[in-house]
Amino acid sequence: MGMPELSAGDKLPGVLPMVFQQAVAQADIAISITDARGVILFVNPAFSRVTGYEAAEAIGRNESILSNKTTPSEVYKTLWQRISRGMAWNGTLVNRRKDGTRYLAELVITPVLDAGGAVVNYLGMHRDITEVHRLACEVRNQKALIESVVDAAPIVIALLDAADRVVLDNHEYKKLQADLGMAEPAPLLMAAVRSALAQEVQAAAQPDPRRAGYLFLDREVRIDRPGAKGPLWFSCSATAVSEADTGADNFFAGARRDYVLLLAKDITGLRMQQEKARMAALRAMLAEEDRASALRESLSAAVFQLEGPLNMVASAVHMLTRRQGASPGDPMAAALADAVRTGEAALANLRAMIPHRVAEAAGPVNLNEVLRDVLDVSTQRLLGAGISVTWQPQAILPALQGHPNKLRAMFKALVDNAIDAMSGRGWRERELSVATRVAGESIEALVEDSGPGVPAGDQLKVFEPFYTTRRGSGAGGHLGTGLSGAQQIAADHGGSISIDAAHVPGCRVRVELPVQRR
Ligand code: FAD
Repeated sequence: MGMPELSAGDKLPGVLPMVFQQAVAQADIAISITDARGVILFVNPAFSRVTGYEAAEAIGRNESILSNKTTPSEVYKTLWQRISRGMAWNGTLVNRRKDGTRYLAELVITPVLDAGGAVVNYLGMHRDITEVHRLACEVRNQKALIESVVDAAPIVIALLDAADRVVLDNHEYKKLQADLGMAEPAPLLMAAVRSALAQEVQAAAQPDPRRAGYLFLDREVRIDRPGAKGPLWFSCSATAVSEADTGADNFFAGARRDYVLLLAKDITGLRMQQEKARMAALRAMLAEEDRASALRESLSAAVFQLEGPLNMVASAVHMLTRRQGASPGDPMAAALADAVRTGEAALANLRAMIPHRVAEAAGPVNLNEVLRDVLDVSTQRLLGAGISVTWQPQAILPALQGHPNKLRAMFKALVDNAIDAMSGRGWRERELSVATRVAGESIEALVEDSGPGVPAGDQLKVFEPFYTTRRGSGAGGHLGTGLSGAQQIAADHGGSISIDAAHVPGCRVRVELPVQRR
């Protein structure tokens, strides 16, 4: 049923016409009824309040008295096209009050049809939405302003929802995505920081008072990139953000939605300088460790070789004294006993000269960093042997608890073995590939070479102490303890090393180290 004609009220039963009239009169929305040409026949008090025209001033005039003449004529055309065909129209017009002031009218026009379907009247209802429009514009402007500030900010910004999905980001974030060739690096940055924080909580770290209001502040995360590109470092901070849920379901419940605002500042430039200094110190330390280890092995070998003859002389003295009975004056026995004493003193001196291994404290270790260190310090050997290197790290690795120097030594042994394997005379394929990835709760590192590989029967034996597939002098200065030592270091970290039997040609060594040690 359409709206009743003004005269149709008396056809309605009982008190209804009265109720309609009161409802229209008291409604807080400007209501007008026109004839088919838009000439006003009726207005309610709210119409007079909104437009400034009293009923007597409006009735008999066209609704165009409200037009500010700035609404494009196309709008009116469409309006009339619809309503004159019996269809409702709604839209927003710029209206002018009687006093000349302008306001935005949100208008609905509904045609009133007679029994034959012809349009006889129009019912217009409008309200002043100037203030609502102003607020909506302000929100839009503010949003645009915030977005341009966020976009222009020289740091990576990403807003993540409770499921770690990125719901807002900025230009720098998009640059990072392109640079890493990765859809969403933000959840990975968050995961890396969370894993570091979890380890700190386990280590009962004291909360940082500067952290108030932050979920975390200035946490450093390293992102490794494949190939020759160096790693990137970001200083990450995050704050919790919550907003009112806009859904109708939560209109009365007042529920809120929680987000995390992640800010990541690129500190690669600064870190690279520190890295140069660290690499120089590392090279010096490794050179010193090489020297100490060579000395340790030579002295141990000397001690071992002297111990045999000296033990034999000591037993000879012992036998001589027992056979001849106690004769303290025997010059032969005295000379031999003296030689044994001097020999033992010399051995004790040699043992004391063996350099001690320095105990190393465990701490959070980034395996990508360890592997890059090893590749960096091996650059000369790799270049010298004409080996090309492929570096394929997982961009962000969680830190594991470990001894960085031991782990470096472990991977150094694997890389040295790979270099040795490919350095045979006439061997053409010289490619080393090093990759890392997170595999479940562990980190997996693969060191692959294109050398002749380890024969199937030797793939377990190579981990035995003093076993070597190299015959002769032990090229590269190794005594053959490389893999067994490496295996020991992996085991000390709760992990393992294995040779991938299925990988042919060449040799693929798989190292698995758990992130959390049980
Ligand atoms: P007009 O010459 O009146 O109209 C512009 C164009 O609209 C014309 O070129 C023509 O294509 C079309 N048109 C006008 N009248 C008719 C008609 N009778 N039949 C078919 N096409 C026609 N306008 C406002 O600006 N503010 C309002 O709040 C408003 N409320 C309205 C409420 C109702 C119930 C109705 C029916 C109309 C309302 N109008 C309102 C529209 C108003 O009647 C005018 O059409 C409009 O104001 C433009 O006026 P104008 O003098 O600038 O141009």
